[in-house]
Amino acid sequence: MQGWWFEAALLAEGWAERVRMTAEQGRIVGITADAEPEAGDERHGVALPGIANLHSHAFQRGMAGMAERRGPAADSFWTWRDLMYRFANAIGPEELEAIAALAFVEMLEAGFVAVGEFHYVHHDRDGTPFADPAEMGARLAAAAAETGIGLTLLPVLYMASGFGGAAPRPEQRRFVQDIDGYARLVEASRGAVAGSPDARVGVAPHSLRAVTPEGLAAAVEIGGEGPVHIHIAEQTGEVEEYLRHCGRRPVEWLLDNAPVDARWCLVHATHVTSAEIEGVARSGAVVGLCPITEANLGDGVFPATDFLAAGGRFGVGSDSNVLIDMPQELRSLEYSQRLVRRERNLLSSMACPSNGRALFDAAGKGGAQALGMGGHGLTPGARADFVTLDRGHPTLAGRAGDGLLDAFVFADKRGMIDGVWRGGRQWVRGGRHVARDRVVARYVRALAGVGITGQ
Ligand SMILES: [Zn+2]
Repeated sequence: MQGWWFEAALLAEGWAERVRMTAEQGRIVGITADAEPEAGDERHGVALPGIANLHSHAFQRGMAGMAERRGPAADSFWTWRDLMYRFANAIGPEELEAIAALAFVEMLEAGFVAVGEFHYVHHDRDGTPFADPAEMGARLAAAAAETGIGLTLLPVLYMASGFGGAAPRPEQRRFVQDIDGYARLVEASRGAVAGSPDARVGVAPHSLRAVTPEGLAAAVEIGGEGPVHIHIAEQTGEVEEYLRHCGRRPVEWLLDNAPVDARWCLVHATHVTSAEIEGVARSGAVVGLCPITEANLGDGVFPATDFLAAGGRFGVGSDSNVLIDMPQELRSLEYSQRLVRRERNLLSSMACPSNGRALFDAAGKGGAQALGMGGHGLTPGARADFVTLDRGHPTLAGRAGDGLLDAFVFADKRGMIDGVWRGGRQWVRGGRHVARDRVVARYVRALAGVGITGQ
């Protein structure tokens, strides 16, 4: 039996003070408010449930900050993608594991307790499949096990370079599968995570650009009851091209032609009409928003205010991992709405007027749903996955209840997160991951081996 005592805790039913929590075998067995600490309890400041990072390409952590130089022509998502392809084609299994471990360390330090890895670099550098089709996925699973983050591995189906099944380009050689190959990959991926009791596998048809309608249907079938993630409507160019290709908008087509429901995560969905917003909200799917990356890539602004008014669900992801920062994802989302609408406090409601609380709760529930985690929040029976904030941090002085979350989401400059636990095991102490030094040293060596420099 483990015991903790918190000055305050955000429980599934709301805030409580002087909270004693106990766990056995990684699961919460008891929570008592207004309690005294008992001998052997660890004492901490403010406990929050950990939230899931629903969309990541871990290897892209290795190129963070390398695409911030102006080129001769207009820079866009598509010029960024050229560098990303060069990077993706330069890393082997060892490098992937080393880079992913650093990304996962930083996610835990940022208060994320689980990650959805949208994983598409499957084959060897020359495009030849590895003997084990899940060789690269197994490296992600190893990095997750080493660092302690919860993993939902989402092997990607990638078939084409554009709408209508256009032939893949040479730089996409490591991603490409046919449907039979994909079925084998998903099966092998299930084997690759089998050693981690709470890791799981979903499916990820990459986008309507990269999979045919037949491929999409097959991937959904292969996924069974697990999560289904897809990139959609991230770029206006993509929406216009799809309109030219079939006369429909991507989200509109998807809602009409795929069994979109609560298992689905529509990543980005940036460019949507009000009818599409209503349709996605009605489907019960989660929209996966990645505000830092979407701003970095110049994608556009998702109409989150309208989507929440329609009852939509969302979670957040660190996507390109250019910067891994959970509170900043939440505040960037709110700020994007303020800048477009020239109003304040847009993603909260009169029922929950605190913006920090509204964003934190919604992203926690949406992220857990999208990753198939079976629930979110500190309550008996749940996994003991939680984050503590340093009650002595000056920005938290004089704050209580939702005011703590408003300070955390809108005024944190990193340094407020003290500890992070998963399944009752502590992975972050004093704001640092316990394996940080080792993981950083290996990352630096791996990056030298990749040989792509940011200069
Ligand atoms: Zn992505």
